[in-house]
Amino acid sequence: MGELRQIAIYGKGGIGKSTTAQNLTAGLAELGKQVMVVGCDPKADSTRLLLGGLAQRTVLDTLREEGEEVDLASILKTGYRGIRCVESGGPEPGVGCAGRGIITSIGLLERLGAYTSDLDYVFYDVLGDVVCGGFAMPIREGKAKEIYIVASGEMMALYAANNIAKGIQKYAKKGGVRIGGIICNSRNVDREIDLLRAFAQELGTQLIYYIPRDNIVQRAEIRKQTVIEYKADAAQAEEYRNLAKAIQNNTHFTIPTPMSQERLEEILVEFGLMDLNDDYRI
Ligand code: ADP
Ligand code: MG
Repeated sequence: MGELRQIAIYGKGGIGKSTTAQNLTAGLAELGKQVMVVGCDPKADSTRLLLGGLAQRTVLDTLREEGEEVDLASILKTGYRGIRCVESGGPEPGVGCAGRGIITSIGLLERLGAYTSDLDYVFYDVLGDVVCGGFAMPIREGKAKEIYIVASGEMMALYAANNIAKGIQKYAKKGGVRIGGIICNSRNVDREIDLLRAFAQELGTQLIYYIPRDNIVQRAEIRKQTVIEYKADAAQAEEYRNLAKAIQNNTHFTIPTPMSQERLEEILVEFGLMDLNDDYRI
């Protein structure tokens, strides 16, 4: 049993954070690791592939319905290969602070003894948009010390990743938060690996893994399963296992060095994602 690693996964909405986090934790579980996944997105879909059909009531909904006297079993469900699953939930869209669910959940999980000593990993799947500072909760509270950003070779994904790096930098300088790498979830953009490598290097980190785009992800999703569970011998399942191993063996942890808008746009121009004469700023 090693030391507990608490990891936050960030990235633009829809980039593939939840899909990647669940497949990667399924890969870690196959390696015999004890894992907990805490969904930190009001969408509450961070654990559905691990739980199969089982409907997971969020922590905030459970507190609303049952009051303060909740037990661990009512907010933590066990999914694929024993992975412990929690969904923080959030307020009604547009009402209140999206980060409240996260902070409430982490506090409750601590009080109810969810952070057991046998755990190897806790993953926080965090929505990518900066909402009431909720975005920073897991790292601000000093829980997650290790961060991965999911991105692709699309302009908006890279803008978001650079902004997230800016957010992380603040907490990295004050505390022990470090970035472990960029995970490229491919959109089949030309020269995507080279672009992501250049981008990661500029951010003072590494491209830790390139995940191909594959429709088997959707086929598994329809069955509410990770690819690893749906088709263990598929090439894409092997990709997620390799990502799990890359994270397991990672030793490259740094304070990110976010880019200026100008530098980011230079890179986008260099890789043909932006025309030098256009001004995309709003
Ligand atoms: P996020 O959690 O960042 O909002 P999701 O994990 O929900 O994003 O992914 C959004 C959609 O992208 C999902 O419907 C999923 O099926 C699809 N997707 C994610 N990764 C891949 C991939 N590597 N290949 C194909 N489809 C993918
Ligand atoms: Mg998600």
